[in-house]
Amino acid sequence: MEQRITEIYDSIRKAASSSNREFGSIRLVAVAKTVSAERIRTAVTYGISAIGESYIQEAREKYALLAGIPVSWHFIGHLQTNKAKYAVKIFDFIHSVDSMRLVEELDIQAKKINKVQNILIQVNIGKEDTKSGINEEDAPNLVNEISRFKNIFLKGLMVIPPFFDDPEKVRPYFSALRNLRERIRSSLYSGPVENISMDELSMGMSGDFEAAIEEGATLVRIGTAIFGERG
Ligand SMILES: *Cc1c(COP(=O)(O)O)cnc(C)c1O
Repeated sequence: MEQRITEIYDSIRKAASSSNREFGSIRLVAVAKTVSAERIRTAVTYGISAIGESYIQEAREKYALLAGIPVSWHFIGHLQTNKAKYAVKIFDFIHSVDSMRLVEELDIQAKKINKVQNILIQVNIGKEDTKSGINEEDAPNLVNEISRFKNIFLKGLMVIPPFFDDPEKVRPYFSALRNLRERIRSSLYSGPVENISMDELSMGMSGDFEAAIEEGATLVRIGTAIFGERG
């Protein structure tokens, strides 16, 4: 695992420099669904500082076992409204916000524990029926609405593109997310809004993270390339 992590950091560094970006502007989120708490602990000793989880119950169990470990926790799965209360207790970032109802519930639950919850809006760029995420054309409106929630901080956008073997086929989805971010930035608000930054683009997985970085990813979500195939 140590060697795989080293290789991924090398690839991130290369993709960053080939696109004139700072290595430090890209964060590696190690996606640990189905991976044991002990293996996560090992990954952290090899330089992993952010963990991605897709299921709330699994995350709660591992979070309890790994109390105090120096990592940030990122939720990347589909979040049901009735699980928001657990999510705000664990996660520094929730990448998969795709409805007003979820924003409202996260705001209520974050307020209860005196927290400002970082979120990303998940956008369904491919308009796939099976994927969650809001449609591209509805994203600007959701961003506008979020500005009135005091316990929510909107950091940017996330996409899970359809699966292709060839990263070049995925690249248009990455550039579409970046373009949407630029459109939102330039048209939605005339000045800075206190709880919206829109700096982050969560995109790129084991098979295509280099292309994602070249298209502007700031958070890459990598599972199998670190931990191996999921059992
Ligand atoms: C599982 C998962 C990943 C990681 O995928 P790999 O191909 O294993 O790197 C990234 N993002 C999301 C949303 C996932 O569910």
